[in-house]
Amino acid sequence: MLAASGLLLITALAIAALTGGSDRWSLGPLLIITAFTLASDFATVEIKSATILVSGSFVGILLTAVLLGGAPAAVVGALTILESWPRSTRSFTSLLLNLLTYVTYPLLAGLFFHALLRITGVGVNNVEYYLVIFATANVALAINFGLTAAYAWRLYGGSLLQRVTEVFMPMLAPELFAALLTMAAVYIAVHTGTFSLALVGLVIVVFQYLTGELLKSRQRSKELQRIATTDELTGLANRERFSEAIQERIQWAEEGGGPFAVMLMDLDRFKEINDTLGHHYGDVLLRDLGPRLVAAVGDGGLVARLGGDEFGVLLGPEVQALSAVEHQVGRLTAVVGEPFSVDELSLEVGASIGIARYPQDGEDSHALLRCADIAMYAAKEAQADYKVYAAEQNQHSIRRLSVISDIRHALASDQIVVHYQPIVDLDDLRVTGAEGLVRWQHPEHGLIPPGAFVQTVEQTGLIGPLTRYVLERSIAECAAWRKAKRNLSVAVNLSVRNLLDRDLPREIERMLDSYGLPADALQLEITESMIMSDPDRAVATVTRLSGLGVRMSVDDFGTGYSSLANLRRLPIDELKIDRSFVSPMLRDESDLIIVRSTINLGHDLGLKVIAEGVEDADTLQRLALLGCDLAQGYHLSRPLAAPDFDRWLLEAAPLPPTVALSPAMADRGDPPALAASGA
Ligand code: C2E
Ligand code: CA
Ligand code: CA
Repeated sequence: MLAASGLLLITALAIAALTGGSDRWSLGPLLIITAFTLASDFATVEIKSATILVSGSFVGILLTAVLLGGAPAAVVGALTILESWPRSTRSFTSLLLNLLTYVTYPLLAGLFFHALLRITGVGVNNVEYYLVIFATANVALAINFGLTAAYAWRLYGGSLLQRVTEVFMPMLAPELFAALLTMAAVYIAVHTGTFSLALVGLVIVVFQYLTGELLKSRQRSKELQRIATTDELTGLANRERFSEAIQERIQWAEEGGGPFAVMLMDLDRFKEINDTLGHHYGDVLLRDLGPRLVAAVGDGGLVARLGGDEFGVLLGPEVQALSAVEHQVGRLTAVVGEPFSVDELSLEVGASIGIARYPQDGEDSHALLRCADIAMYAAKEAQADYKVYAAEQNQHSIRRLSVISDIRHALASDQIVVHYQPIVDLDDLRVTGAEGLVRWQHPEHGLIPPGAFVQTVEQTGLIGPLTRYVLERSIAECAAWRKAKRNLSVAVNLSVRNLLDRDLPREIERMLDSYGLPADALQLEITESMIMSDPDRAVATVTRLSGLGVRMSVDDFGTGYSSLANLRRLPIDELKIDRSFVSPMLRDESDLIIVRSTINLGHDLGLKVIAEGVEDADTLQRLALLGCDLAQGYHLSRPLAAPDFDRWLLEAAPLPPTVALSPAMADRGDPPALAASGA
């Protein structure tokens, strides 16, 4: 590059020597032009895409080339570059190349102008004189742009044509205007004397300022446009852009394009990663997921992040048949399922996808997105990879929405009920207690399971009152069992907000007192992710709770990312192995390994281990052989309303510990024969 520069410099000097005769070195005008050119250069505007500086210097240089000649113009050009260099962050090579450009093009312009004058014989009083100026301006522009583009091309690669347009396009209009300005300035200088050039100089500065503002505002509006349609974190399209794209696709379909599908995708287990490992992990995961989805969808499709861990996908226009859509869904779920490595951790998430189709499911983007949303929730509930929208899902979702608005009322009236699911000792199959599980006895919709509302309640401030209600009911019930000479305990689930609630320990103490229940009859279940979201605070609350004498257990163990270090800091009494490992453990070797090692781990830490989700006699028996302490599951009993639970207890007859329950019996829903302790 430097060799080329040397060649350029030699050429420039040769030209200077050749054109020396036509130059006029009158100091007055030269000073005026230089002063104003430099002044205008002080407030330059940087254009990101082209990496060049925009200023009024072109007018100054051109003016000098016309009025004084190529060499003086080259001096002005060199000065503008030297003057702006300390403010720029460019390298020395860049300075050199810029300098060469700004010496060469003024020289060549001067040469061209004066040669053309000589050849054509036009003078200042001919109109053609101004045409020659205009032609010179264009030659100067071409040389300048050519050199700058070649430079950018060498520096950044890409195609030369691409670089030329990049440099050329944003500058063309202002520089052409500069050519007109030069013509006006020359006219003024010629007709009213060179010192009116001062006035022209002022015009240059004003011109430069206006051009700068124009370009800046153009850039700003482009930037605003980008921000308005882009998701900052992932760089994907955002919700607005996605709706717009759907609207465009509808238009396209209307014009004979054909049917298409809109998908909403929500990540499974993402919240857990975010809560337990921190936002950094969640952010990195989302950022890494973007390109995977884009690649899976391919050209012609659009991937947008709609917020949180929710993505929108519009497939390419060629994907029309449902089978083709489903094929694409398979690819999407596959790329989501590949592990993400973040700071040496390997994280896995899943996805639930809802699909809505145009034209059958909606006429505009709003309706399609709503249907896709409903289908997505249906997929989540069914734990399926995806669901295609069907009208009956809508019924369900209306229910879901009204459930949310009614929850306050439900708490005030007696619609919230607690069911009890027995827990048995695996040594002798005696019932040792029950887990209290909340339900909503809805006047219209019937019994609603906690999965349909607890999470929503958690997001409102109502989880405090809900937990207190369940606690009070469970404590009261347990006290009643004990009055009936049954030495049972009761377990209650806490949610993450409860752990941040400083008043809760005191209130639990009060409840235990007022029902006369010893603290160790109450067991509180917390999940791993609750501990990990704010370990210090969780440790503080859990310590206070266990200080009351209440027993603590870690629920859903194995599904989270808790560290053993954190577990050891906590005064925990029990690990509860998640049912997703227990239920399939006889069918799936890896689940069996997890169950077995969790039992050993728990025992090594001095904890009791309970298996939930025991659905058959074989599993029950196997758990006993593995040394698990306690069991809970449909095989023993489903959760029962308080009176049913009492009846179940009464009917549970003593059984020798080695005799397993018959699965047939449990399937019929008959009360299994069990020994209730103290009965
Ligand atoms: P969890 O704490 O893991 O509760 C156990 C869930 O497993 C219960 O679902 C129970 O009915 C179900 N289950 C029991 N045995 C089996 C089995 O053999 N197989 C299968 N597949 N499932 C079994 P439920 O009652 O629908 O509760 C779901 C979740 O809702 C609970 O999971 C718990 O996280 C939450 N929850 C329930 N009650 C409360 C509450 O009062 N407060 C809070 N914060 N959460 C609650
Ligand atoms: Ca539980
Ligand atoms: Ca559980």
